[in-house]
Amino acid sequence: MTLPVKVLGRPLALPAWVLSAAIALTLIVAMGSAGEMAASREKQKQITAIQSTIELQRLGLSGVIARFQHVPFTVAQYPEVAALLHNTKDKALTQKLNAHLQEVNERVGSEALYLMDTTGLTLASSNWSEPYTFVGDNYSYRLYFKDAMERREVGPKSAAEDGSGLYYAVGSSTGVPGLFISTPVREDGRTIGVLAIKVSLQEIEMAWRRAGEPISLVDQHGVIFLSSMEPWLYTATHPLSPVEQRFIDENNQFGKDKRIEPAPWKVLPVAGESSYETVANLDGKARHFLTLSEPLNQSPWSLVVMTDLSPVANARRLAWALTGLVGAVLLLIAKIWQLRERRYAEQRNASQELERQVHMRTQELRESHAFRKAMGDSLLVGLRASALDGTIIFVNPAMCDMSGFSADELIGSKPPHPYWHPDDLEKHWKDSRAVLNGEAAMTGFESRIRHSAGHDVHTMVYTAPLIDADGKHNGWISSVVNITEQKKAEELQRLQTAKMQRAGRLASMGEMASTLAHELSQPLMAMVSFAGAARAYTETGNQELTLETLGEINGQALRAADIVRRIRGFVQQQTPGFQDCTVNEVVSNVIALLRPEIRHQRATVVTRLSLFPPVIQADRILLEQVVLNLIVNALQSMPDKTPVENIVEVETGEIDNRVFIRVSDRGPGIADDLAQQLFEPFFTTKPEGLGLGLNICRTTVESHRGRLVYENRPGGGAIFSVYLPLEPLKP
Ligand code: ADP
Repeated sequence: MTLPVKVLGRPLALPAWVLSAAIALTLIVAMGSAGEMAASREKQKQITAIQSTIELQRLGLSGVIARFQHVPFTVAQYPEVAALLHNTKDKALTQKLNAHLQEVNERVGSEALYLMDTTGLTLASSNWSEPYTFVGDNYSYRLYFKDAMERREVGPKSAAEDGSGLYYAVGSSTGVPGLFISTPVREDGRTIGVLAIKVSLQEIEMAWRRAGEPISLVDQHGVIFLSSMEPWLYTATHPLSPVEQRFIDENNQFGKDKRIEPAPWKVLPVAGESSYETVANLDGKARHFLTLSEPLNQSPWSLVVMTDLSPVANARRLAWALTGLVGAVLLLIAKIWQLRERRYAEQRNASQELERQVHMRTQELRESHAFRKAMGDSLLVGLRASALDGTIIFVNPAMCDMSGFSADELIGSKPPHPYWHPDDLEKHWKDSRAVLNGEAAMTGFESRIRHSAGHDVHTMVYTAPLIDADGKHNGWISSVVNITEQKKAEELQRLQTAKMQRAGRLASMGEMASTLAHELSQPLMAMVSFAGAARAYTETGNQELTLETLGEINGQALRAADIVRRIRGFVQQQTPGFQDCTVNEVVSNVIALLRPEIRHQRATVVTRLSLFPPVIQADRILLEQVVLNLIVNALQSMPDKTPVENIVEVETGEIDNRVFIRVSDRGPGIADDLAQQLFEPFFTTKPEGLGLGLNICRTTVESHRGRLVYENRPGGGAIFSVYLPLEPLKP
């Protein structure tokens, strides 16, 4: 992963680990500097504290010195002092000075106050009465004695200023350490003795111990002679040289043959600083101290004050911890921020992606919708979608045009819909139920609707289930085809066919006109004869015969009327439509009609009719016309033969679920070259023929869902067969 970082305004892709390392380094540096700053501040605080401690102690010690350093000088002025020095054996004088020294000693609170002669022998002392009295002891080896003996100037000031005459030593008589201040006893500029005072610094030492921090007083050789740390007493801040050791030994400063060992600490000097670090071994533990060493005014000594460095280390550690914590918090915040930014970026990307997809999808949907709308709008076929309860939920413009109702008027409409034809309401309900029950014929159904303008529109409706995206069936969609024009054409065709059929029938009758005339003339002639006979019987008064003859006339008239009725019925009568009938009835009617023609043609019609002809649905008149045509053609195909040869066979029967009427003759049959045109309108080989008969026959048979076929008859002649389905025809 890389992170974008800007350098001089330019984005620079850095690997994340480099950035992390840089941050970690910065943090470490920051922690280091913060630690050092805190440590240095703490150290400075400690130095200030040490300095004030030193100042305080210096004042304390100076006070002690100042308090006592005048005492020997003052006492040296006593006349008894010089007197005793001159007369050392004078016991009374000795006793007097002893008492005096004791009194002063008690008054000023010093350890001891005593007088030595120039040999160092103690002549009188404040502790004259105590077992470890100095009286009689010789302190010529003591430095303070030597110093006083060698001092030229006299006066407390000089001692205070240059520190001479100030000594710290362990008392050789008492073994108790103390500060010794000496002053020469002079007479006429000559030193005749030395007066010294020993002051205990134990109180100071005790106060130091209570303070806790190590405070030490170090002499000019570096020997610690006063310290809050007892183990450090009489050790040296640096290894003593043999000369120094010898000097101490000679002066018996710290007790007989006292070996001065180096102090149990190690100094870590720091260049250029007044303070330094000391590692001291305390109670078996190495402890670090900040140490400051300052010379003590009015003495050759130095005050060494130490303070535990652990607060500095703690301050450093605390600063580290705080900086680390702050850094960690900052890092955490940065990380959280980064994560947040990343999440925002991801969310932004995701939402942009989502938006893009939604946009794309919307665009697709829009396009698809526009495409479907254009398709729906461009369709001439009406589209209508309905919910499961029949409510219209969609119509296309073609559907609106077809019905004359707007989409607003149609959408939401429940059955009965406004375009339902008032005369077909029952059928509409039936169709609607069939659609909603999923029982509508796949092949579609016809439906007549009423346009809002009032005219009828014939439609063909095809319905399919409406399935949504989840595969749930939630309605029906129907395509509605306007078949009004087709219907009109069909009607026209039907009318024309009917006309043609009628023309055909007329033609047939025309062809049979002479025969019919002859047929009619027979009853008419018979009526004329019967009428003459009737008149004669009337004149003779034979009423019975008259009535009988009139009956004959009536019978002949009825026969003539029957002939005329049948002819008219055949030619003019509108076909009554489909009705129950049998092929035998059709054949019998036709033969009855054709009887005169058959006779005229000197032919014989032989019938072989089915014994139990099934009832079929057919337009009987049209079917009769077919059979009549076939028989007439059969008769006409055999013009020159005798009745024995001119046999037309008419057969009816049932085969393969169909009924048939078969007309066979012994004419020339159908020549191969004629076969192609046989059923074409106006094809005829006869001089007076119209050539419509077979064409009308085939149209009629096919409208009954049947077939008209022919074949040449073995032995000569033709066979024309009509096959009709057995099941009832639905009009
Ligand atoms: P038309 O009888 O007026 O000629 P049709 O359409 O009935 O018209 O017959 C067309 C032609 O078919 C006839 O002219 C005839 O040549 C031929 N034809 C029809 N029936 C027969 C038949 N039974 N035997 C021979 N030829 C036939």
